[in-house]
Amino acid sequence: MISNEEEVKRPLNFIEEKIEADLASGRTQTVVTRFPPEPNGYLHIGHAKSIVVNFGLAQQYGGKTNLRFDDTNPEAEDQEFVDGIMKDVSWLGYEWAGEPLYASDYFQQLYDFTVYLMKAGKAYVDDSTQEEIAAQRGIPTEPGTESPYRNRSVEENLDLLERMNKGEFEKGSKVVRAKLDMASPNMHMRDPIMYRILKAHHHRTGDKWGIYPMYDWAHGQSDAIEGISHSLCTLEFEVHRPLYDWYLDQLPPFNPRPYQTEFSRLNLNYMVMSKRSLKKLVLRGYVNGWDDPRMPTIAGLRRRGYTPASIRNFAEAVGLTRQKSITDMSFLEFHIRQDLNKTAARVMAVIDPLKVIVTNWPEGKVEWLEVENNPEDPESGSRKIPFSRELFIEAEDFMEDAPKNFFRLSPGGEVRLKGAYAIQCQDFVKDENGKVVELHCTYDPATKSGQDTTGRKIKGVLHYVSASEAISVEARLYERLFNVEDPTGDTEDAFLDNLNPDSLHIVQNVMAEPSLATAQVGDKFQFMRKGYFCVDPDSTPGKLIFNRTVTLKDSWAKSN
Ligand code: ATP
Ligand code: MG
Repeated sequence: MISNEEEVKRPLNFIEEKIEADLASGRTQTVVTRFPPEPNGYLHIGHAKSIVVNFGLAQQYGGKTNLRFDDTNPEAEDQEFVDGIMKDVSWLGYEWAGEPLYASDYFQQLYDFTVYLMKAGKAYVDDSTQEEIAAQRGIPTEPGTESPYRNRSVEENLDLLERMNKGEFEKGSKVVRAKLDMASPNMHMRDPIMYRILKAHHHRTGDKWGIYPMYDWAHGQSDAIEGISHSLCTLEFEVHRPLYDWYLDQLPPFNPRPYQTEFSRLNLNYMVMSKRSLKKLVLRGYVNGWDDPRMPTIAGLRRRGYTPASIRNFAEAVGLTRQKSITDMSFLEFHIRQDLNKTAARVMAVIDPLKVIVTNWPEGKVEWLEVENNPEDPESGSRKIPFSRELFIEAEDFMEDAPKNFFRLSPGGEVRLKGAYAIQCQDFVKDENGKVVELHCTYDPATKSGQDTTGRKIKGVLHYVSASEAISVEARLYERLFNVEDPTGDTEDAFLDNLNPDSLHIVQNVMAEPSLATAQVGDKFQFMRKGYFCVDPDSTPGKLIFNRTVTLKDSWAKSN
């Protein structure tokens, strides 16, 4: 049944089982799914899961996926977000069927359906206030009370509907409700609101409409209009499913008729994952925009150096279940390491430089040594890096009073410099504060990398750069954005108290090997021993800026 070129080796998940049953029974001819974002913010990694699920299943079963903007709330929506969402879905590697679609394309059909329901006595205009409607709904354990406007005549309802849409009434003064069941134990079935009056300008329909449909009224009907076979959404919509079905059952039959199936949403620890919260971080300046590399947005992850494949692999590995769960951030980081390990060129850059004078190396002499670009990728070739009398190593790689198991540099000790020679520390210089500022070392010509004739076992291998050829770059190092596993609290803004004040470290004058001078925005590298880095779009011709995507090892797993 599965027509994917890459055979699925794991057991089928519950949605695949359902799809296969639907195809076998003939209920479904073609698998048609949709990804239905509301354009009120940028997509986050949770949406990526939904994208992978919807597009992935359609691909797997030879169907198609629509991109449908759920643009039913003009007060929060914007073209900027529409553009951002399209860019992110494409970047993740998916192609939607045909043109992007919009719930607003169906406003006329939804209106006509409403007229149909009103004529059938299944929808009415209600003048009750928001508070009155809430009071009528009551509590789940007791039946609610009917609105005094519930039994308006069909003619009156149709007249009021038309005038609501023309803008004759104030926002909040009237709504359209479905005439359903005020005694239902499911609160969503107690005469749900179908339309509210909004006096906002819509980014696509302008001022044409005076009323806007609620999610529940727009969603299933949009699915039906588009011929969606499987409407996949997250678990919080499970309680909406009876309403989804009720609306479809009241209207003339659709073929195919869509069915809703829920799965659990993706949550990450040390992170918040609702657009509303993410928007707050942006608008209040806690981060530098939606694409800040600390954000869980697709735009932020892209800028941080994540690849589409790493995000897809992560989403697939998280899997599809109905179990509520919180995924460990290090599981996401594992997937980007796995991908970059195969593809990122190894280079050398010293983040906290300490000068080394190689006292027995001639002044002015530079030797260019050949090193391979990526031992994991035989196709990646090699490049030349300079070695000279003045070098930089990482300050933390030298210790004056080193313990026995310190395999880096200490007075009298010997280390190998990656791809070059072994050096031995003869002396060091301190400044007036007692900080070591310069090492004096000798090199051994017989230890040249690949041609070592000494047979000596040298445990430590350090990265280094040659001072005169090195280029100065900026590195942006990131920590968790939040400092507790679950940053959400009891109140809506509580998560702001859990922000990590040290989530961004900007380091100037990182000394990088000269091959990096030609790096382009988006290029990805492994800075040996320091992590994976990606060139940031803030870079200018004179100054490259690197974001650390992730460290090489899971430093969190150890400390947690
Ligand atoms: P948020 O709560 O972050 O605002 P949303 O559900 O309101 O998200 P939409 O733009 O309406 O955002 O969502 C588009 C689709 O993405 C929906 O089908 C929704 O179920 C799905 N989705 C949103 N968040 C997640 C998540 N964390 N995990 C999986 N799917 C998600
Ligand atoms: Mg939503």
